[in-house]
Amino acid sequence: MADDDTLCPDEAAGPLEELTAEQTFRFSCHPGISCFNRCCHDLALPLTPYDVMRLCAHLGMDGETFLERYAAVRTFPETGFPLPFLLMDDVEGAPCPFVGPEGCTVYADRPGACRSYPLGRGTRMGRDGIEERHYLVREAHCRGFAAGPLWTPPNWQKSQGLETYNAFNDRYMRLMTMVQASGRPLEASLSTLALLCLYQLEAFRGIIREKKLLAHVEVDAQRARAVLTDSAATLEFGLDWLELVIFGRCPHLAPRRGDSAGT
Ligand code: SF4
Ligand code: SF4
Repeated sequence: MADDDTLCPDEAAGPLEELTAEQTFRFSCHPGISCFNRCCHDLALPLTPYDVMRLCAHLGMDGETFLERYAAVRTFPETGFPLPFLLMDDVEGAPCPFVGPEGCTVYADRPGACRSYPLGRGTRMGRDGIEERHYLVREAHCRGFAAGPLWTPPNWQKSQGLETYNAFNDRYMRLMTMVQASGRPLEASLSTLALLCLYQLEAFRGIIREKKLLAHVEVDAQRARAVLTDSAATLEFGLDWLELVIFGRCPHLAPRRGDSAGT
């Protein structure tokens, strides 16, 4: 990844204007606006693990089926991590598969990049943790800047329910940054493991059960139960497990004494 890393596609979407956390922008998007749904077409929309988890929950679908039906999976070249892109429908205008006449049909669980628009979020690992920068993406077709309330970047993010998305994305970014800093992109078997742990949570749970992975790490009964029943807990465990397998240690997951992680 570049110096200013991001899992959000918005930075590449159009003319960018950097904003401080205190600067404001005027914006309003609503079904009556003349450009309604214009932004939901012909997108290169990468999906983070948390995006896919939320979309799967919304659609009642497992991760494998979702990726097969809705995504093209590429790979981050510098790290070897999987990078699914949402496939646009192969019809005129290339609409998002989830856009309907009345707007986004998966609105409550739409991807983080859709929530964030027209604000882009760039992140990088700083000395004291994740550092974030904000960019406004002003695309010619978007009429939302003409009226509406004034927002600061943090207020906008809060209004769009981005806190949990950002927290999961930052955790993932930290892991990718560590792999990039090691100078050793994931080899094929670890790339496959990353796809399983991050994007195919039901299948990962099956492996956790079958190979009794929880017996190899220090987890209390409450976390063990959550890992096997709650997708967010499974994803969190997947991030920790990957870190443990790749680096032999993870601050959030310790191997049982005398054990080393492996599948
Ligand atoms: S997921 Fe929803 S908001 Fe995002 S591009 Fe598709 S229709 Fe638009
Ligand atoms: S183009 Fe801008 S204002 Fe129009 S629907 Fe999309 S986000 Fe809203």
